[in-house]
Amino acid sequence: MLAMNYRGPFRVRADHKPDPVIEHPGDAIVRVTRSCICGSDLHLYHGLVPDTRVGTTFGHEFVGIVEEVGSQVTKLKVGDHVLVPFNVFCGSCFFCQKELYGNCHNTNPQASAVGGIYGYSHTAGGFDGGQAEFVRVPMADVGPTVIPADMDQDDAVLLTDALPTGYQAAEMGDISEGDTVVVFGAGPVGIFAAKSAWLFGAGRVIVVDHVDYRLDFVRRYAQCEVVNFREVDDMALHIKKMTDWLGADVCIDAVGCEAAGSAAQTITGVYTMMQAGSATALHWCINSVRKGGNVSIVGVYGPTFNAIPIGNALNKGLTMRMNQASVKRHLPRLIEHIQAGRIDPKQIITHRVPLEEVSDAYHLFSSKLDNCIKTVLIPPSANQVRAVASTANH
Ligand SMILES: [Zn+2]
Ligand SMILES: [Zn+2]
Repeated sequence: MLAMNYRGPFRVRADHKPDPVIEHPGDAIVRVTRSCICGSDLHLYHGLVPDTRVGTTFGHEFVGIVEEVGSQVTKLKVGDHVLVPFNVFCGSCFFCQKELYGNCHNTNPQASAVGGIYGYSHTAGGFDGGQAEFVRVPMADVGPTVIPADMDQDDAVLLTDALPTGYQAAEMGDISEGDTVVVFGAGPVGIFAAKSAWLFGAGRVIVVDHVDYRLDFVRRYAQCEVVNFREVDDMALHIKKMTDWLGADVCIDAVGCEAAGSAAQTITGVYTMMQAGSATALHWCINSVRKGGNVSIVGVYGPTFNAIPIGNALNKGLTMRMNQASVKRHLPRLIEHIQAGRIDPKQIITHRVPLEEVSDAYHLFSSKLDNCIKTVLIPPSANQVRAVASTANH
């Protein structure tokens, strides 16, 4: 099959690899029809995630058609159109029973922190991802969800990570009616966090970034105010000015470990790796939120040391919540929101690229060229499937 193949930092290409096979009776093989490149794939692409092995295939946001099922799979059948949450999870361990599917204890040998994630290095279980024609889906009765017949697969693929992660960011912010919510980061997750903040009752939503085309998009898409941090001297002071000098009620970090905006953080976190990435957005969250406010973190950080102002967080009495999204928990509610027209996720897709051109797609997304917000990769076999389906309809 054709698959994205990681060759080292800033080097990926489309290669032929052996087709995945059923390795356990609970597995399914899914023929991928859509697979996104995620902002967090860029951390892998930039070589910032430990134990990212050459030869592996990224891709934790994919939808497709069940091609084959193992003998123990009872809830899926060949031909089902499924969306597959980015979490690989068992559904039955201590953490899964608490619906902490992102923290499953059975799907990652390094499971003291994160659970399994498709295509996200051996730090997250070493599973090959969906930027390929086929992917092996372990515990296929647990994660995959059949896509409702009336749902566009471009909407469905955004339910595998970006939308639920943005939504959970708003949920963890514990937004009260009328709250001012500041979202740092206008990538897909930040865009969906801003959109979701209204659904949780926010009275005012402000998004901060430095990429103008993304700020223009989110202003229209999420009807929010925007701030370009390049035009601001002191971020926390600016947010205080905008909020009667109190600070925001809720701040959301939708950026994670590659934040721009502070030379000191970028030098120590990105260039010299003295800390696990640049934590500028998290600094701004802690310093821009009001006393007693809430900070919600969904931007990805590595498990090791980061220089963050924990003393400020303590003395301000902040509540901080953070996690990888527990995708499956949010699906019923989010499917409802999409079907009711309250959220139209596919509007964020700016690029549809054949899988053969995966190298260009990473470069374009990484360099924020061509007003790129979200890129969807389309494997060659996805077109065959569509051709077959449309023939059958006539
Ligand atoms: Zn993702
Ligand atoms: Zn589990």
